[in-house]
This record gives sequence, C-alpha cells and structure tokens, in this order.
Amino acid sequence: MSDSENKAGIEPMQLGLDNRFKFRCHKGVDCFTKCCRGINIVLTPYDIIRLKNRLQLPSEEFIALYTDVQLLEKTDLPVVTLKLLDDEQQSCPFVRDDGCIIYEDRPTTCRYYPLGTASLSYKEGADKSGFYFFVNEPHCLGFEEDQVWSVRDWREDQGVDTRDDVNAEWTDLVVRKRSFPPNMKLTEQTKKMFFLASYNIDKFKKFVFESSFLSLYDVDSETLNAIQKDEIALLKFGMKWLKWLLFKEGAFKLNAEAAQRRQSR
Ligand code: SF4
Ligand code: SF4
Repeated sequence: MSDSENKAGIEPMQLGLDNRFKFRCHKGVDCFTKCCRGINIVLTPYDIIRLKNRLQLPSEEFIALYTDVQLLEKTDLPVVTLKLLDDEQQSCPFVRDDGCIIYEDRPTTCRYYPLGTASLSYKEGADKSGFYFFVNEPHCLGFEEDQVWSVRDWREDQGVDTRDDVNAEWTDLVVRKRSFPPNMKLTEQTKKMFFLASYNIDKFKKFVFESSFLSLYDVDSETLNAIQKDEIALLKFGMKWLKWLLFKEGAFKLNAEAAQRRQSR
C-alpha cells in the first residue's frame, strides 16, 4: 500500500502490523474533536477499570451512568459501549472544545483511532481478530498530515499494546464465542456471569469474596492474596473462570466436595 492511498475516504482494507500510513492528530487541525461525536465506542474490561477509577465511581455506578449495554446477536454476549450525550452531535461525555478531559484514561477504541481492530469490531463478517483497518470517516483530516506510522508503532505510541495485553483473555473469549454456530446459545445465567466478571469488577470482587464462590472452587492463597489487592489480577482471574464456565477449559476447578455434589446430581 502506498502512503498516497492512505487518506480519509479509502475503502476498508485489512492492515497488518507492518502496514504504513500517514497520520497526525493535533489541536491545530480543523476537525479537532469531530471524531469524539457520533462514534460507537466499545468499552473493554480494562477501559472500564481505568474510567471508573478516574471518575472515582464504583463499577456498577459507572456502568449505570456512562454506558449502554447491548446483546449482539453475532456474539450472544453482552457488550458495553460508551453512552453518548443526547445533544445534536451525539457527543462523547468527555469531550470539550480543547480536547478530551480523561485523555490519559481514554478507551482503547479512542487510542486505536483512526485504526479499528477486528477484535473490537462487532460488525458482520469481522470474524478474525488479527488485523486492523481504517475507520473510514471523511471528516478526519489527520490523514493529510505528513507523519508516517506503521500500525505497530502507532499501537505502541498510543499505549494499546499494554491494554491489549490486559484484555487478551477477554478478547479471546469474545472472538471464540463469535465463531460458534448461531444456534449455540448461552444460558441467561452464564451471560450474567460474563457481564459481572468482564465489566462490573467491584461487584465481581464481592461475588468472589462474599458469596459461596470460594467454597466451590479451589483457589490457592497466593492467587487469593493477589486478587484481593489488585484489580488487574482480579480481572485476569475472572477471565480464567469464564473460560472454564463457557468452554470448560483451563486450570480452574471445583473443589473435591463441590465436584462430588455436582456428580451425584
Ligand atoms: S478527526 Fe482525525 S485528525 Fe481530527 S481530531 Fe479526530 S483523530 Fe484528530
Ligand atoms: S473518551 Fe476522549 S478521546 Fe474518546 S471519544 Fe471521548 S473525548 Fe474523544
């Protein structure tokens, strides 16, 4: 792909890490903050942790105030998007004339922009996780600037490498579930558990430590210590549990007593 082809209005195409494009976003562009309006921003589990901590809200309150929850037919899993304002332009609640007020904690989708990643796209046909594409928005003038990036460098510059690493197990669950035949539906209870462990981290912590969870599952003391203190460790623990719940895979296991009770049912 030549650099000259990389401008707003191009047809969607699959990009790999070494593909290059011209782009620069700064306060001097005429389109500044236009991309923060009328946009669909899927929130990942780590996005929610960063945002609810930034706003000093419990995860449940953050979800109620700032998100919309959808159940997409393609995945049969609940997906959370940022709730836009009810103004003429459907603005992001965090955009102001001089930019984003939560910039350091902005969601993964905003970091990728003007790229999209297939793993966060819930469009029909986006079944593969390992490629990127241009978000095709004619108002974005950043493509007319002179700075050249590879997809790899852009990801690193925007801090998506770290975020994708934290979200890796969750992304894997979503992508795998998406490839299931449409008639393989999850139970309502499993969907609730997916939502809890993926998005409502404070409530998930209560669920682990204050319900019968720890009397059902074998969890070693080192892990318990880590998930008590560290939300990222708790999130990764939750993803391992979901993997076991959805696909019966991984090292998660019922303790001997619970396994026996289940067998005798
Ligand atoms: S539309 Fe493009 S160039 Fe303009 S502010 Fe958004 S990302 Fe930057
Ligand atoms: S979170 Fe920030 S960067 Fe993302 S759309 Fe909102 S204002 Fe723009």
